[in-house]
Amino acid sequence: MRVKGWVLTRPRDLPVAGRDTRLRWRKRRWHCDQPGCPRKSFTEQVTQVPARARITARLRQAAGAAVADGNRTIVQAARDLGMSWPIVAAAFTAHAAKVLPAEPEPVTVLGIDEVRRGKPCWSFDKSPSRGPRPSTGGTSGSAISAAGKDYSPRSKAAPARR
Ligand SMILES: [Zn+2]
Repeated sequence: MRVKGWVLTRPRDLPVAGRDTRLRWRKRRWHCDQPGCPRKSFTEQVTQVPARARITARLRQAAGAAVADGNRTIVQAARDLGMSWPIVAAAFTAHAAKVLPAEPEPVTVLGIDEVRRGKPCWSFDKSPSRGPRPSTGGTSGSAISAAGKDYSPRSKAAPARR
């Protein structure tokens, strides 16, 4: 192997004492002299700055932790760390994937809010001033929350509220 040249990379890094940092790394580009080598040419990389990375691993981790553990929104974390929304969102997803179990615990009580439950069924109100309206089988905007209650759909006698 021999050094073929140099590449300057400027990965974004964590701020220090509230101020932006400027990280510059002059990486070596290597050339492999082995005949038939599939890579031939490649640049140096370290754990914090993998090949083609434009931000350091610790900045990415800090962004994910700011959202997952620091109660920051993605927008706030992106602004604070000078990053874009999609990059912080991806960092958060990566952070969550590490701390969350692969399969969630089985659900015992399911909460549903701001959604219609059941199929809307329509019937015609014969009074002349009113048109069709929902009659049975659905309630909108209902929250199901308390444990131990009956979660079956409302009986047909109960009028649907709109
Ligand atoms: Zn090689």
